Amino acid sequence: MTDVQPKSTHAVPGDPGALVVVDNVSHTYGSGSTAHNAIRNLAFSVQPREFVSIVGPSGAGKTTLLRTLAGLLSPSSGGVWVEGKRISGVPDDMAMVFQDYSRSLLPWLSVEKNVAFPLGGSKHSTAERHEIVRESLEAVGLDGFGKRYPWQLSGGMQQRVAIARALAYRPKLLLMDEPFASVDAQTREGLEDLVLQIRDRYDMTILFVTHDIDESVYLANRVLVLSRPPAHIVEDLRIELPEPRDQITTRENPDFVHLRSRVARLVHGGTPEG
Ligand code: ADP
Repeated sequence: MTDVQPKSTHAVPGDPGALVVVDNVSHTYGSGSTAHNAIRNLAFSVQPREFVSIVGPSGAGKTTLLRTLAGLLSPSSGGVWVEGKRISGVPDDMAMVFQDYSRSLLPWLSVEKNVAFPLGGSKHSTAERHEIVRESLEAVGLDGFGKRYPWQLSGGMQQRVAIARALAYRPKLLLMDEPFASVDAQTREGLEDLVLQIRDRYDMTILFVTHDIDESVYLANRVLVLSRPPAHIVEDLRIELPEPRDQITTRENPDFVHLRSRVARLVHGGTPEG
């Protein structure tokens, strides 16, 4: 981190019960005449088991924010705390799923070896690793596909493998960067429901970046709407739709329709009421 370090790594600003605290994070790419201020003074916290969607116009800084949360990018100022510790690299108990499954999976390894990959060199015995892989594949509906290769599977199935691999870490915090942007609409709905199921099964907290406004509302307990760059939070919207969510009844619920319109207006730069 490039700014002043806190006196104690356990000094969580503001919200000691939160799993994630984002404390006034700003990031500028480059310097001098090429400097680009991508995000500005972002501040929010995320409670355990929350599902937070992050939406905003293209180029708003959503990926920059997620990379900062993942410890892949050191912010120019401010800091991120996960489980009470200021992060200075990729935190334990965190996994990330990217949009481009074809690049995140290793084509020369079988599905089960892809899922086992992050466990290499870990504290688990071979038998434990085998069981974690089996259970992770079962959780994403890919029981029996372990011996196949990624290229033998559809796009949606490959993204399920990428999710299974993230589950193999048994993360408390799952970061997802437009994970379903490359699959067709029907496959996407199945993957959305899968993510809600695994959130419940593994008690995870999920931060989910998406361009799809309906998806952001359908999945989340909260939607953070980012402004045009440099991104700041224009609205932190609580989503109190009935659980469990359902692709038909949730989307036809008048509250859903109202919320998705509100988010759409904010993303397109208008006022919440139009
Ligand atoms: P989003 O995910 O909302 O589309 P990004 O976080 O990818 O936005 O990018 C935010 C802004 O920062 C964009 O204008 C983008 O061009 C710029 N940017 C992203 N990564 C880099 C980089 N490595 N170097 C310079 N500028 C970057």
